[in-house]
Amino acid sequence: MISESDTIAALATPLSASGIGIIRVSGEDSISLVDKIFHGRKPLTEYGANTINYGHIVDKNGHVVDEVLVSVFKVPHSYTGEDSVEINCHGGVYVLRKVLSLVYDTGIRPAEPGEFSKRAFLNGRMDLSEAESVMELISSGSEASYKNSIRQLSGFLSKKVKKIRAEIIHEAAFVEAALDDPEHYDLEGFDDKLVVSLNIWIKEIKNLIDSYHQGSLIKDGINTVISGRPNVGKSSLLNFLSGHEKAIVTDIPGTTRDMIEDRVVLGDIVLNLVDTAGIRKTSDAVESIGVEKAIKAQSDAELNLYMVDSSVQLSDDDKKYLSSFDPSSTVVLLNKSDLDSAVDIDAIHQFFNGYVVDFSTKSGDGYDELKTAISDLFFDGGLDKDRFYITSEQNYNCLSDALKSLELVQSSIANGLSEDFFTSDLYDAYRSLGYIIGEEVEEDLVNKVFSDFCMGK
Ligand code: GDP
Repeated sequence: MISESDTIAALATPLSASGIGIIRVSGEDSISLVDKIFHGRKPLTEYGANTINYGHIVDKNGHVVDEVLVSVFKVPHSYTGEDSVEINCHGGVYVLRKVLSLVYDTGIRPAEPGEFSKRAFLNGRMDLSEAESVMELISSGSEASYKNSIRQLSGFLSKKVKKIRAEIIHEAAFVEAALDDPEHYDLEGFDDKLVVSLNIWIKEIKNLIDSYHQGSLIKDGINTVISGRPNVGKSSLLNFLSGHEKAIVTDIPGTTRDMIEDRVVLGDIVLNLVDTAGIRKTSDAVESIGVEKAIKAQSDAELNLYMVDSSVQLSDDDKKYLSSFDPSSTVVLLNKSDLDSAVDIDAIHQFFNGYVVDFSTKSGDGYDELKTAISDLFFDGGLDKDRFYITSEQNYNCLSDALKSLELVQSSIANGLSEDFFTSDLYDAYRSLGYIIGEEVEEDLVNKVFSDFCMGK
């Protein structure tokens, strides 16, 4: 196992002008080292655990650098499970840099991204799945993502995984005991009992695996491309959805020269939106790069919002594109519904057999219908508020491996193979599930999980 006991520090809040900025320090010597630059009523080392103490940070000449509140935490009652200090400074960029550099001058080293949470995991303050959810919680962009990460943080996944593991190891141990000591342990009827348990484990694991696709969309958002001919209102849609002017809106076709990206939240749905340069043939070099990128973004996208200007007749290009779209990943927006219409939903349905929404970026009409269409396409009509969703690929892979091993046990029993044949598959399932909570985990995996964390967490 990894062992790191030196003292680390990092900024735990953004480096920007704000009311306060917090520097987090953790490690065996954190209190005595911070004490070197702290002037208070008494030395920091003399304050008790879980206290907040007023004082000043001073440089080596004794000059006051900032007026601060310093929190002291002692083993094991801190985020990392180590002695820790949090220095609440004034939240100015300059002052925070100055205090941080004084902290480092004491011999404390800068923390790696995610290192505080890594220590919390290594010191048993939380398991791997809970630690992972901390990052998710911080980066939650919607209520659904926030709720899901809170559930994971409070141990929903860990408890489930631990329960199945405990049951698996119990059965595997029973087989071993029976093989070693057949006089006291009888395997008569064991397989039938195991089949019942296997069915339950497999059902629960499949349920988690099935939640992954939607879980990753909740967490990462749906990669969405807005496409359509020039001047239909694509940039206006991006502006409308993101609530601020980002793309340049003009009446001149081809003004959006390149791709513009934004993350927008529509209720529980997060869209990673890309507005593309109008898809059309062009001789303008800059614009043609945009067109190429647009075609690439469109092929990578999970959702295609294709926009048509309803106030003018459909062009041949529109008809060609509409016929080529996959209805399971496309919503057609009939924009400018506030103007007299030259094209209606039925006209579109002649070429495209999917969701078509009358829309106006000017009046906002069609917004709710758009949300419903996306929700139908990606979340079967809406997110299940009570369901827990797997959001990490790592967990998805571990669950899939565990499932495979348990299915092997199932088929061994169906084929009448003896117990000693399938215990190793039970152990494999046990091990795969263990990776989710950080048991049976190699150092590499731990480092990978925590390297995705941000600084100061
Ligand atoms: P793009 O080339 O597809 O990005 O189109 P723009 O967003 O630049 O819009 C082209 C023109 O259509 C601009 O003058 C917009 O103000 C106008 N427009 C966009 N959406 C609507 C709408 O819903 N109703 C009306 N009446 N005009 C719109």
